[in-house]
Amino acid sequence: MIANNALLLLLLVLAVAGGWTLARGGLRMDEAGRAQLPSQYYRGFNFLLDGEEEDAIDAFTEALSVNEDTLDTHIALGSVLRKRGEVDRAIRIHQNLLTRSHLTAVQLHQVHLELARDFIAAGLYDRAEQLLRDLSDQSPDLNATAQRHLLEVFEAQREWSAAVVTAENLIALSQSEDPLATGHGQSAHQLRCHYLCEQAEAAISEQDPSLARQYYRDALRDNDKDLRARMGSANVSLMESSPKEALAHFEVIMASGRTCTPELLSLLSQICADQDGESTYTAVLHRYYEQQPSPLLALSLAAELEAEKDRTAADDFLRRTLADNPSVAVAMSLLLSGLPEENDQPERRILEQLTRDEQGYACDHCGFTGQSRHWRCPGCRHWDSIHYLGTVPAKAHG
Ligand SMILES: [Zn+2]
Repeated sequence: MIANNALLLLLLVLAVAGGWTLARGGLRMDEAGRAQLPSQYYRGFNFLLDGEEEDAIDAFTEALSVNEDTLDTHIALGSVLRKRGEVDRAIRIHQNLLTRSHLTAVQLHQVHLELARDFIAAGLYDRAEQLLRDLSDQSPDLNATAQRHLLEVFEAQREWSAAVVTAENLIALSQSEDPLATGHGQSAHQLRCHYLCEQAEAAISEQDPSLARQYYRDALRDNDKDLRARMGSANVSLMESSPKEALAHFEVIMASGRTCTPELLSLLSQICADQDGESTYTAVLHRYYEQQPSPLLALSLAAELEAEKDRTAADDFLRRTLADNPSVAVAMSLLLSGLPEENDQPERRILEQLTRDEQGYACDHCGFTGQSRHWRCPGCRHWDSIHYLGTVPAKAHG
């Protein structure tokens, strides 16, 4: 923080001194700024000499009069303060800019955008929303950026239907080839899908499966294979006692190439519990494994074979899979199977520990890890960036 304050103070001193030099040379500078500059400038230095850095920042900020040359400095200064968590100061600086009469429309829009960002950081969502809506109407250049920030506002307040409308606006802008609509953040198509899934899940918790079904159908509009919407649709089918329909949704997931996870196996198990003999859990697992020969599926199939036949049949199956799909997790399972059943063997404990440690989920974007899937990462707030780590122990070789 001390280093940050020093940099900020240096920026301010240079900006004020630069403005003063221009004023002395008779260049653009308003009269009020010319009169106030020296006293606040030296007051800032006095605070600095007394070691009161925060007061020095305020004094230098006040000394920095607003004109065409310093507007960008004010905007940048407010942004720096917001990023340091000093949102009140950022708001004060940006609001002060709005009191100046000589701002052009473009400059005014820039300041409004910064102020909206300050309000979002401060959790003042109503005020941010109003500014962003006005900006979206008044500035074609900042329209897409304003809509992106509106999504932040609606997400923070869980206003999913408003978020869907805004995502639709962004999709329309991207179709008109506005690069800002697609140039940053996640795809508006993907976001729209998640917002609809959020509404569907709320409908499920309200025991309204038919409303949830409508949301999921809409969510699948842009991506027929979306994992969350298909899983939700399968759940709704189960709620409405349509296991065949649920299995059809699951078949789409199987063909989509998304990695099989324990939660998918749990859903499949529920679906198969109500199926006829041809679609038993083991039969579907076999088909799933043919499409995706993952260690998780191999081990799940082996567990079913052991329950239906015996451990030898399960081990034989696992050994056959190793020929085409080498896997440390599968090999480790076979080693564990070969050890005697006594509880306190150290080699058993180590092998079991290695397998257990690696199971879980991690965010591709920020590295957040957890034991369950979140559709939105609690660390970085990205949607669908958390993926299953699998059962392969990364530390198995050392
Ligand atoms: Zn993350």
